[in-house]
Amino acid sequence: MLFDTFNRQHNYLRISLTDKCNLRCFYCMPEEDYAFMPSSQVMQAEEIETLAKLFVGLGVDKIRLTGGEPLVRKDVARIIQALSQLPVTLTLTTNGIRLDQFLPLLKEAGVRSLNISLDTLQPEKFSLITRRNEFETVWKNIHAALAAGMHVKVNVVAMKNINEDEITAFVRWTKDTPVHVRFIELMPFDGNHWDSKNVVTYKQILQTIEQQYDVVKLKDELHDTTKKYIVPGHQGTFAVISTMTDAFCSTCNRMRLTADGKMKNCLFSKEETDLLSALRNGEDVAELIRQTILRKHASHGGQFAATMEAIHSETLQNRSMITIGG
Ligand code: SAM
Ligand code: SF4
Repeated sequence: MLFDTFNRQHNYLRISLTDKCNLRCFYCMPEEDYAFMPSSQVMQAEEIETLAKLFVGLGVDKIRLTGGEPLVRKDVARIIQALSQLPVTLTLTTNGIRLDQFLPLLKEAGVRSLNISLDTLQPEKFSLITRRNEFETVWKNIHAALAAGMHVKVNVVAMKNINEDEITAFVRWTKDTPVHVRFIELMPFDGNHWDSKNVVTYKQILQTIEQQYDVVKLKDELHDTTKKYIVPGHQGTFAVISTMTDAFCSTCNRMRLTADGKMKNCLFSKEETDLLSALRNGEDVAELIRQTILRKHASHGGQFAATMEAIHSETLQNRSMITIGG
């Protein structure tokens, strides 16, 4: 079992399969001089399988595949099949563009729940945010996933002057469609020019919705990053991920493995442990994992100021989101 010094047990691993992506979301992928990871530094399928097994041996029972865009990786089918043999709940975060091609395989692998990202319900705005004209594909594939019986969570990064005017439209969508919309507060990462002024906060999101709807709070599970709500009578639900204004670090159970095999004990950790090189050199990787968890900070990788307004994103030491894996 992986306990840190705050007695938090870590049983949830997010594995980034690639830093490549078929979209270019401006808050995730730096526009300037972005160089993709050289393939020799990226974990091979069998290395991912070996590392995943080691984590499972240490108590991991939930694995999420992410990226970059996990479904652009050529051997993703093989990886999904291999990881589905492990005693874990397997899930995936995707931008949805290639999802239709993988739905049968995902179902076969026992994947029951998907996180799909969609920040706007307007095709032109989608192209502005992602720099690609793919709204219709994502929209169609969200509905294909629902039709295939998947539990679909839709990730919406809420941003000032970009999509805050669509918050209630997303909630309206949950009336007749069983989607679970999750508004995410915009987070700072390398190269995304984060400014607290662009964050739409948990409170603001809720106030906006409550101006139009009566909402009921749903029970959150112990390790949930979301605060969940429902509008009575709606088929779907909505939630807020309030990383910036009301963090959930005290019950964190998550660890990350980047596509180049570095373990991060927090999304915002500046320290990384190179598990891939250790594996290739025949070192004791399980011991490295244990030590990495013991170094976990109480919150936000030990890097955030007390209030969001006091955070200077340029002083944070981290990667861009596309190279971490959300
Ligand atoms: N490509 C996949 C996707 O878009 O779902 C998986 C990787 S993406 C990095 C995972 C999630 O992180 C997405 O929901 C994305 O919107 C979110 N994300 C990326 N950058 C973010 C930021 N700066 N703040 C908040 N969420 C962010
Ligand atoms: Fe790609 Fe997902 Fe990042 Fe958008 S959020 S650039 S889809 S990895």
